[in-house]
Amino acid sequence: MQPVKRFIAGVVCPKCGASDSVRAWLDEAAELQHRDCVDCGYEDSLSTKVQVNPPSELTTRVTPVSASEPTPAQPINILDPGLRRTDH
Ligand SMILES: [Zn+2]
Repeated sequence: MQPVKRFIAGVVCPKCGASDSVRAWLDEAAELQHRDCVDCGYEDSLSTKVQVNPPSELTTRVTPVSASEPTPAQPINILDPGLRRTDH
């Protein structure tokens, strides 16, 4: 599974100073965000654990499961008290 490397608009490479040449991608297994510069080959990585603004695509993975939510009892017409059969 290849990570999606996306260019970050407005980010300047700290090594060569080129703008819009830095890509970023997530390594979810290692909980790291990697960056690299396509101009000079600069690489960087930082932990996503301490990231203040995690990417929105990660928030869907921690959606709480409401499995313990009580289901209200509803009357179901399984037993028809009249047992009337309407044959048309
Ligand atoms: Zn660079």
